[in-house]
Amino acid sequence: MNKKDKKPYIKWILIIGALLITASITVWLYLHDWNMERSLDALTGDSTQQQPAEEQIADVQEEGIVIPEEKEDEVEEDLPVTPEPEEEVVEEEAKDATVYPESIELPEEPTVVNGILLANKQNPLPSDYAPGVNPEAQSAFDAMRAEALKSNIDLTAFSTFRDFARQKQLYEGYVAKDGQEKADRYSARPGFSEHQTGLAFDIGESGAEQHWAAASFGDTEAGKWVAENAHRFGFILRYPEGKEQLTGYMHESWHFRYVGKEVAKEIYDEKITLEEYLEQE
Ligand SMILES: [Zn+2]
Repeated sequence: MNKKDKKPYIKWILIIGALLITASITVWLYLHDWNMERSLDALTGDSTQQQPAEEQIADVQEEGIVIPEEKEDEVEEDLPVTPEPEEEVVEEEAKDATVYPESIELPEEPTVVNGILLANKQNPLPSDYAPGVNPEAQSAFDAMRAEALKSNIDLTAFSTFRDFARQKQLYEGYVAKDGQEKADRYSARPGFSEHQTGLAFDIGESGAEQHWAAASFGDTEAGKWVAENAHRFGFILRYPEGKEQLTGYMHESWHFRYVGKEVAKEIYDEKITLEEYLEQE
């Protein structure tokens, strides 16, 4: 072969080589979806942009985090739809002892539970029930008064037995003054007063009339003494603080009820009301 023949041969090899390279690049780009960014990444070996995201998802799924989170969200969204809270509210309203029954009909006989006379807004007394002051309760009060005098506390029972007619007069006076809703919180309707049993004693201190039938009595020396010692003589604080829904009446630091020493001690020790005591009997 001569020199002139060699040159075209080399030229064609170069042209065919260039075409092959171009075709190869074209096919390679086609196979990589013409995505230049991804293709360049693949070409340079820089694959850190995509794999971590996939790895993270895989890790999360393996740990079971993603799926439970979605389920929790669903549960939370469903909760408010359940009717349970409404049912509980209805039950509490039914137990509210501050509310009188819709039809108030006085009974023929008083309510006695395990030998203990019970008078509240759910358990009224016959209108003609008028036993007067209970003698046993009076003796117990006298003994308590004698004991308190040793501490220079002069106790007096400024209100004890009240018959139906007297309670009617009192209650109607309170309604005229404060309205029925307010009067119902501190005064019983006729036939519903514990004072009609002859077992209830409103206790105060002689010479301190400003604290009679007032919340302030509970803060006086006499009021504290009675609260701490009445049970030893058979009396209980009948309407304790925070028990209005059970007893039916707001707290009365002066109103005591005679139940006998044994029952009084148990009610005092357990910090319960007469209603709770009779319910667990
Ligand atoms: Zn009273």
